[in-house]
Amino acid sequence: MRNWLLATFTKHKPTRKSPRLTLVGAGPGDPELVTLKAVKAISNADVILHDALVHPSLLEYAKPEAKKIFVGKRAGKHHHKQEEINQLIVENALDHGHVIRLKGGDPFVFGRGKEEKEFAESFGIEVDVIPGVTSVTLPGYYGIPLTKRGVNESFWVITATTSSGKLSADVTLAAQSTATVVLFMGLKKAREIAEVFEGVGKNHLPVAIISRGSWEDGKVHFATIDTLEEQVASQKIASPALIVIGEAVGSHEYFYEQMKQVTAEIW
Ligand code: SAH
Repeated sequence: MRNWLLATFTKHKPTRKSPRLTLVGAGPGDPELVTLKAVKAISNADVILHDALVHPSLLEYAKPEAKKIFVGKRAGKHHHKQEEINQLIVENALDHGHVIRLKGGDPFVFGRGKEEKEFAESFGIEVDVIPGVTSVTLPGYYGIPLTKRGVNESFWVITATTSSGKLSADVTLAAQSTATVVLFMGLKKAREIAEVFEGVGKNHLPVAIISRGSWEDGKVHFATIDTLEEQVASQKIASPALIVIGEAVGSHEYFYEQMKQVTAEIW
């Protein structure tokens, strides 16, 4: 790191343009789910850093001469570490001027946006943040309300996988409330998540699994806590995915249809 810092300051002569970073929320997938401010920023960029959560067609707003750098994971290929991304941001801002870091959803929702901002600022680079349409709002895209009057009083957004790899203890707290629980990075934790809800007797609570929400190949699967693990295992659900749990999810027409069928069978 020390060597890189020294090399950066000696190698990179200041550009005519003042170095700048804009962290831009690129929305959850559908390229129309971005703000006008995001589109204007992209069209002003000298360099754009993007990753797999960003729809490639957003790059069409860029100036033809803008440099585009892919910093995501691509089937089996090299995965850029956060430190490398931070360094690329600084080097490119010093060399070329205005760097846009496109980040899936909102840069400050489980996006390490704050780390990138602080790193760039430590080099005296000015940083702006353009909030984005976070994937937290995807349930609405599929007709699932996050809140429903008289049903739930809050919604919780939790990362199922913490930095230590364990299930977040917040899931246990949320399971005791009326909340709709939106879980990020939860596919590999389906069994543990179900166990937490079963522990408070919520075996029949409705669940939606939103896979690649709002992308062209996006899908939503439905389950209950009891069938969650089996659904995840049998459906080969593609990442990125959200697991959404709660009574409010049960107001989706899928569950009404299920209920109608059961009632018809009984009668
Ligand atoms: N900053 C992003 C989240 C980044 S963390 C945001 O605001 O949306 C990455 C996690 O977000 C994924 O593992 C997944 O749980 C969720 N996610 C992002 N895009 C998604 C999509 N299109 N469909 C479903 N889940 C998504």
